[in-house]
Amino acid sequence: MSALTIEPVPCLKDNYAYLVYDRDSGFCGVVDPSEAGPVLAALEARNLKLTHILNTHHHNDHVGGNLELKAKTGARVTGAGKDRERFPGLDDGAVEGDVLQFGAHEAHVLEIPAHTSSHLAYYFPRARAVFTGDTMFAMGCGRLFEGTPAMMWASLTKLSDLPEDTNVYCGHEYTEANGRFALTLEPNNLALQARMKDVRALRSEGKPTVPSTIAQERETNPFLRAGSAEIRRTLGLEQAGVIDVFAETRKRKDSF
Ligand code: ZN
Ligand code: FE
Repeated sequence: MSALTIEPVPCLKDNYAYLVYDRDSGFCGVVDPSEAGPVLAALEARNLKLTHILNTHHHNDHVGGNLELKAKTGARVTGAGKDRERFPGLDDGAVEGDVLQFGAHEAHVLEIPAHTSSHLAYYFPRARAVFTGDTMFAMGCGRLFEGTPAMMWASLTKLSDLPEDTNVYCGHEYTEANGRFALTLEPNNLALQARMKDVRALRSEGKPTVPSTIAQERETNPFLRAGSAEIRRTLGLEQAGVIDVFAETRKRKDSF
């Protein structure tokens, strides 16, 4: 069985599309192409032929390249079937529990609503990779445009329950700002301090901070850490339920 190669393709200001490919089986996907240009250039530089477009959610900075890429390559588009009209060029509608076959590789579909009502993640168990779109970011989470704090908490929990060595490929390079916010809530978290050192070093060289791992996110992402005594103390919510702690964390990040 051949390995899956995953490479970020920077798009727009701070988006990542991802090339996901395996030359042996001929599978070549792109996750969340914001725009066609950088993806076409990356394909050409690697002499790859695009076969699939995988969308996590319908926002334009994740689907903006669908139609041009489809027209130029004939790639099939996968996204949320129950939200068909919001995914340009959608061919294959996916739902929770679907196991999609891409060449020699399987992707499991997870429904992770709240940023949008039909947000999906694509989990490749053998490659130990998950594409989380704008639901889980490195040390962050997406805004709640179409869902409640309880929905986002459930979606993040679904992701954080994946094996801890799973690599997390998120939709944006927001890591440094997310980490600065995390430190305001949990300044004594040693794992967070250490990670921020690494993140600042990478960003000062202009390098991506993705992927992270589920283990790292569990240790440092404040949106997964509503049980943390330090976060609860900072927020003055020692006795609150996890969803209330999460909701207050999200609210503070909105105005950070
Ligand atoms: Zn979005
Ligand atoms: Fe986005």
